[in-house]
Amino acid sequence: MITYDPEKHQDQEQTRERLPEIVKLIQEKKESLQEIRPSFQNKLFSFVNRGAVGQFKNFGQKFWATEKCNQCRICERICPRTNIEMKDDKPMWQHNCELCLACIQWCPQEAIEYKGISQNRPRYHNAAVKVQELLLK
Ligand code: SF4
Ligand code: SF4
Repeated sequence: MITYDPEKHQDQEQTRERLPEIVKLIQEKKESLQEIRPSFQNKLFSFVNRGAVGQFKNFGQKFWATEKCNQCRICERICPRTNIEMKDDKPMWQHNCELCLACIQWCPQEAIEYKGISQNRPRYHNAAVKVQELLLK
């Protein structure tokens, strides 16, 4: 959601229709041609990703919490890298981010922003997943 509008790009119906096929592929530990097909877009994303991944750790430093934060600690508990610590009743991002965006997408108050580019942009998470299923602690 930082770089594009998820509501515009997410075809949830199409994804839902493919779910049984995707689950079967995962269970059988197979690769899907559709997902691995070399395309210009895939190659470009892989290239950019390889170069960027080393930089992600410090990207977390650019998140910040607004006054809407009610100290529920969901961001702290959902982060897969335990990169968020509550200090003085505010979440503080450390140096171990993988830019998964779980914190910003799942904050129930929409109190998390990223630099100056996330304000007024829609948040997205899968409506079929409950936040409790993702909390680490
Ligand atoms: S999830 Fe949102 S409201 Fe809860 S502590 Fe984190 S920033 Fe604050
Ligand atoms: S939840 Fe994801 S984006 Fe947020 S701090 Fe943790 S690793 Fe980074």
